[in-house]
Amino acid sequence: MRDKAIITSALPYANGEIHLGHVASTYLPADVTTRFLKLKGVEAYYVCASDDFGTPILIQSEKEGKTPTDYVAYWNKRDYEDFAAFGINFDFFYQTSSPENIKFVQEVFEKLNSAGHIYQKEIIQFYCKNDKKFLPDRYVKGICPYCKAEDQYSDLCESCGRVPEEIFKPKCSICRQTPTKEKTTHYFFRLTNFEKPLTKWLEENNNLQKDVKKYVQNWIKSGLVDWDITRDITWGVPIPLVQAKGQVFYGWFDNHLAYISTAIKFLNDKGLKGKEFWNSADIYHFIGKDIVYHHYLFLPAMRLGIGEEYKLPDYIPTRGHLTLQSKKISKSRNWYIGLKQFLQYYPADYLRYYLVAINPYSQDDLNFDWDEFTTRINSELIGNLGNFVNRALGFTNKVFEGKIPEPDEFDDKDKEAEEKIKNFSDETGSLLEQNHLDRALKKIMEFSTFFNQYFQHKEPWKKEKGTKTCVYLSVNAAKSISVALYAFLPNSSQKIWEQLGMAGEVNENKWDSISLLDIKPGHSLGEVSPLFSKVESEDIEKYKKQLGPSEQK
Ligand SMILES: [Zn+2]
Ligand SMILES: [Zn+2]
Repeated sequence: MRDKAIITSALPYANGEIHLGHVASTYLPADVTTRFLKLKGVEAYYVCASDDFGTPILIQSEKEGKTPTDYVAYWNKRDYEDFAAFGINFDFFYQTSSPENIKFVQEVFEKLNSAGHIYQKEIIQFYCKNDKKFLPDRYVKGICPYCKAEDQYSDLCESCGRVPEEIFKPKCSICRQTPTKEKTTHYFFRLTNFEKPLTKWLEENNNLQKDVKKYVQNWIKSGLVDWDITRDITWGVPIPLVQAKGQVFYGWFDNHLAYISTAIKFLNDKGLKGKEFWNSADIYHFIGKDIVYHHYLFLPAMRLGIGEEYKLPDYIPTRGHLTLQSKKISKSRNWYIGLKQFLQYYPADYLRYYLVAINPYSQDDLNFDWDEFTTRINSELIGNLGNFVNRALGFTNKVFEGKIPEPDEFDDKDKEAEEKIKNFSDETGSLLEQNHLDRALKKIMEFSTFFNQYFQHKEPWKKEKGTKTCVYLSVNAAKSISVALYAFLPNSSQKIWEQLGMAGEVNENKWDSISLLDIKPGHSLGEVSPLFSKVESEDIEKYKKQLGPSEQK
């Protein structure tokens, strides 16, 4: 682990609100990791940006009678607010349409071009004579050649999930007329130049997930294809060549470059040397499995193509998709929960707890289930953790007027409890370092279970002997929980910290302090109250009914 880190997560497309599926695979794991690294003393920054360019945004802004600039500004602000309400703590949230990114993308293109990684080729493209424009990707709709579903995009059939080679009965999606086919000259990125260096990089990087690596290596073996990086639309980063007038880059050429341009702007504005920082930091890109191709091939190839002026990623944590009540999330079918909507029902920490707990460090899909959510919150978060903290602090208040007593001699059970605290930081920290966020959270819950049992076993309300030691150790364990929870449940972590009567903010602690018994005899607790309130099944039934009508298969 280096002493610096830059963390990014897949950029939200500035074309609609953030929902539970977005946060589960990328933003939450990235946020938890960043908070942990900061406690570890790493100079870590989490940067992100809205992905502003491309055909879908252009079409939608035209429909709403807005300029694309105003349209993306709205979603940039709204996304940022929703993330903030969920406790996603970006150090900087910018835009792919920022002047810095546009300039950077053009510079990268020029460098790739002079290094011989770009070439021109004439291609045939749909053209609408009525609208007088070329019609890339989503501008053309028709019948899917595979599953025969009607009204599908030419670049993706939403019914069967395949990418049609040639759509049947193509129609211009603006005016519904049949487009013609015209010649246009496009710029291509020679991905094929990078088969060897990509293979080498994949082999040498031991931080990448083995299963993902394996199928990326298979893609390379079966032959890479050069990449059309041109779009004949007006909304994008202009290709900086006279002969390319009216053409812009394809979104996947410019958007991941915003990881770099956004980080550099943030670091330079802070008075740091941006490029030096980048190249001496651990680089993390958190993604969902749908964009593996872009992050394991295009992104590293482009960085290799400019002589690794900016270092390649160290980690690309890749996770699966979230389903909702075991079905695919779909806004149009109302099988969907917006992040903003969810946060009107329950505190952010409930959702953070549940989504980390069910989310392994793998590409397996995960499922949001309302009943499981209820059980997890009521029996684990409240019944175990909330109960222990409230019990330990409440008892101290009742019997010792909130003042931590001087412990007596430790018996075997006390020594075991002390040992638990001393091992807690290493055991949990090593899991977090390996990206096993779910297992680390489970460790915290096991720690809490242990102390619940310890407290029960000691029966401090009955006995005179050993009571003081039990209180002393239990309150220190609650402090350990408070700091350990910070990365996962920042609000609850701070609440416990305040109830413990500790000064300052919980995030001013070092991670390793969770193994110290630094609440001393004589310390006074703050005001104690229950941390959480129960999830009621009547409410859950109501929320379940709001879903659908769903597609029955
Ligand atoms: Zn289809
Ligand atoms: Zn048309």
